[in-house]
Amino acid sequence: MTPMFDVAIVGGGPVGLATAIEVASRGLTAVVLERRSGDVDKACGEGLMPSGRAALERLGALHRLSADDCAPFAAIRYMQEDGRGVEARLPAPGGLGVRRTALRAALAAEAVHRGIDVRESCGVRSHRIDARGVTLVTDAGEVTARFLVGADGLHSPTRRALGLEGAPRGRRRFGLRQHVAMAPWSSCVEVHWSRGVEAYVTPAGKQRVGIAFLWEDGAVEPSPDFATLLAHFPVLGARIAGAAPDSRATGAGPLRQTATARTTDRAALVGDAGGYVDAITGEGLSLGFEQARVLAEVLPGALRIGASRASLAAYERASAEAFARYARLASALLWTARRPALRRFVLDRLIDAPAVFGFALRGAIGA
Ligand SMILES: Cc1cc2nc3c(=O)[nH]c(=O)nc-3n(C[C@H](O)[C@H](O)[C@H](O)COP(=O)(O)OP(=O)(O)OC[C@H]3O[C@@H](n4cnc5c(N)ncnc54)[C@H](O)[C@@H]3O)c2cc1C
Repeated sequence: MTPMFDVAIVGGGPVGLATAIEVASRGLTAVVLERRSGDVDKACGEGLMPSGRAALERLGALHRLSADDCAPFAAIRYMQEDGRGVEARLPAPGGLGVRRTALRAALAAEAVHRGIDVRESCGVRSHRIDARGVTLVTDAGEVTARFLVGADGLHSPTRRALGLEGAPRGRRRFGLRQHVAMAPWSSCVEVHWSRGVEAYVTPAGKQRVGIAFLWEDGAVEPSPDFATLLAHFPVLGARIAGAAPDSRATGAGPLRQTATARTTDRAALVGDAGGYVDAITGEGLSLGFEQARVLAEVLPGALRIGASRASLAAYERASAEAFARYARLASALLWTARRPALRRFVLDRLIDAPAVFGFALRGAIGA
């Protein structure tokens, strides 16, 4: 007979695994169903803000990372086209650049260590929810649980199947990420600005630097490659000239995805599955880890009384508030990015008054 889990989590990305660890640490049984296997990679800037780094420590995964696959960063530096920049220090303990494959492997190892059933090559094809619980049809047979968590990313099939997909909004933005093999030249995450495109440069190991580009539909030629995007940043191009690629270029988008809600009877969405605005704030992972924590706090009580949507209200409210703060910041940055003259003017003022930038950054990330 197949076991009945307390929680079945669709998607074994960082947020799905974090959710599994959080619910297991509160005494619930969990199964993680991931459709891929091995080194599960994804286009990501790979910068964990201080709150995300602290979450990784709480989850027991930080000590599993090797120095070859991560690098601390102490500040965020914004760079103009002419190579001038302004930086602001992050609150202690600072941020951490982590190669995505290593981040996911560390969380998966910790989950397995805690007795969580992590299944790879186990894509979820469909699910049904009734008064007894949730039945999931996967590539490897049926799985039953009392509660369903959709942690299946930006284009979440679970969000759609639960009827929580929102209408597409705003202009379409895309991302592309690749690493180069070289020692990081600074302990900052650098954000290079250019007309219509940004480059996010993150140290991600002793001999690895990640570069993620973000752009808006129409700002560059369709389906650009790494070299085409790098050509928008001569200062950055000169800095990495001659460095060998350290990963395959990987794309993502459209980035903006909307959920009408993050809960329904016996189910909840976490991470990108619950909606996403843009990578411009570098907060996706930190927000997702926080959602995992809050959901896990609410779930034991909710399950005792049938896990109706009403019993999940505290999670719905907390995740909506956190998302609204992030969405406001992301929208403000996107508005400025679309106005290069204004952006240059503002950055020039901040270069002259770096303390103001520090104040604004700490306020924006709620530190
Ligand atoms: C270009 C770019 C740069 C970014 N930079 C940063 C940054 O610097 N810092 C930061 O914090 N965030 C950043 N983000 C955002 C961050 O990558 C996401 O917020 C984060 O990956 C969300 O994790 P997740 O676990 O919710 O989703 P994902 O990592 O997408 O994981 C979802 C998982 O679900 C699996 N899945 C999907 N469908 C099914 C199915 N039917 N059955 C089973 N499994 C399924 C997928 O295979 C995948 O492994 C960036 C994003 C982009 C696009």
